[in-house]
Amino acid sequence: MGLSRRAVLLGGTGMVVGIPAIQHVAWNGRNFVRDGYSADFPDAPEGKTSWMNWSGSQFATPREINFPLNEKDLVDVLQSTSGRIRPVGSGHSFTGLAPCEDTMVDVSAMAGLYRYDDATGLATFGAGTRLFHAAADLDDKGRAFPNLPDVDVQTLAGSFSTATHGTGNRLTAIHDYIESFRMVTAAGELLDVSADNNADLFAAGKVSLGALGIITQYTLRTVPAFNLHRQLTIEPVEPFLKRVETLAEAHRNFEFFYLPSTGMVAWLIHDVHDGPITGRGESEDDESLESLKELRDTFGWFPWLRQRIARSAISAGVIEDSSDASWELLSNTRPTRFNEMEYHIPRENGVATLRKIIKMMDHRKDAFFPVEYRHIAADTAWLSPFNGGPRSSIAIHAAVDERYDYFYSDFEPVFLAAGGRPHWGKHHSLGKSDFAALYPEFDHFNEIRRELDPNGRFLNPHLAKIFGENFDG
Ligand SMILES: Cc1cc2nc3c(=O)[nH]c(=O)nc-3n(C[C@H](O)[C@H](O)[C@H](O)COP(=O)(O)OP(=O)(O)OC[C@H]3O[C@@H](n4cnc5c(N)ncnc54)[C@H](O)[C@@H]3O)c2cc1C
Repeated sequence: MGLSRRAVLLGGTGMVVGIPAIQHVAWNGRNFVRDGYSADFPDAPEGKTSWMNWSGSQFATPREINFPLNEKDLVDVLQSTSGRIRPVGSGHSFTGLAPCEDTMVDVSAMAGLYRYDDATGLATFGAGTRLFHAAADLDDKGRAFPNLPDVDVQTLAGSFSTATHGTGNRLTAIHDYIESFRMVTAAGELLDVSADNNADLFAAGKVSLGALGIITQYTLRTVPAFNLHRQLTIEPVEPFLKRVETLAEAHRNFEFFYLPSTGMVAWLIHDVHDGPITGRGESEDDESLESLKELRDTFGWFPWLRQRIARSAISAGVIEDSSDASWELLSNTRPTRFNEMEYHIPRENGVATLRKIIKMMDHRKDAFFPVEYRHIAADTAWLSPFNGGPRSSIAIHAAVDERYDYFYSDFEPVFLAAGGRPHWGKHHSLGKSDFAALYPEFDHFNEIRRELDPNGRFLNPHLAKIFGENFDG
């Protein structure tokens, strides 16, 4: 989130003096934990095992979680098991893409830099390599990825398969670095896929939700390693929103966070840097979140007062200034768990939609997680939300143990009315007819999927809804 606690020093409980006691006591006695929340793994019946995603929004009790060590092992798994099968990465998707009650396949043992070609900058990695490992390996070779997402613990296969992205007007989502990949099909056949040897499967397979096969390795385009200068600034949301397009055009990476019920934004830029580096310093993001939560817990019942206090307590101006290698700065750690919905809106509708979202978020007395706004350039993968033109991404979050049903009932209709496409890995309620309308090549993708997986081995209830298939266990 990039907002230092020093910048959000709140007045503390002393400021409660003078607030009508009954309302204050009622608000303070409120329990924000949502019904049915549990941080525990599900109990697995005899002979089964438990799996849960990062935010605890998805569970499974598969017969087996298999960890193939190489492609031969993986082919054996596909040929020797019956029933459904789902590949899983680091489990950072919020949607039900990975859960499976039969076999889950974790390719994390197929990881690391397999080959690097200095003449072309092409690097071949195991599909289970975590983004930060890949970035560190590239750095050793004097290379880098042009961009990275907010966290870098995801696997290459997992992040590419849902069109994971960072931010920047001229920067595409990270699956766009794929030059070729190798995949094992439902029948256990190994396919090497590139734009040259199978243009359709290549365009379909870059963002494939694990629905076409299990990917074992990727060959990726890289760029020479580079350093970045990072600056985080806090200021009132108005007139800041009028400068969004100008700032996004002026800086290599640009994003911002609206802090609910404060009237303030924290905006973050990264630009290429050639001078000496300062290093990044300790992250204070979690403490900032705790401050925003305290503000909600103490003053949430009275939005006007909450905003007044926030405005006087949050100091505007530059609160972070640092420089380092690109991969050290672009991603963060997120120890505080949350649930998230993110929609990718046609660029021309971005700020107008954000204004609506801000207004709605400010009306929610229980909201405190920042709203995140990013820009992503267009690419050509069939199921990339950025296929067909650049988009603005708006993400809303709720603490992991708190309600997020209102994402669906209140916010999703606004995103959809603006022409939004959901992040494949983040909460959404859409199904086949929605996706067929949103993606010109959706039916084409579905045909290829049916050809490669005629018995629907890679389906689970979530994917069956996306692809319009029956699911009977
Ligand atoms: C804290 C946090 C921060 C995040 N930040 C960002 C961000 O900045 N930008 C962004 O766009 N997203 C972000 N995300 C979303 C995240 O990047 C995606 O959900 C991503 O897909 C997670 O990757 P994973 O390795 O955990 O894969 P999983 O969630 O485990 O799986 C994702 C998909 O990949 C498929 N898959 C996995 N392995 C294979 C394989 N070998 N072959 C074929 N298919 C496979 C799975 O079946 C599934 O469909 C964030 C999520 C969290 C929890």
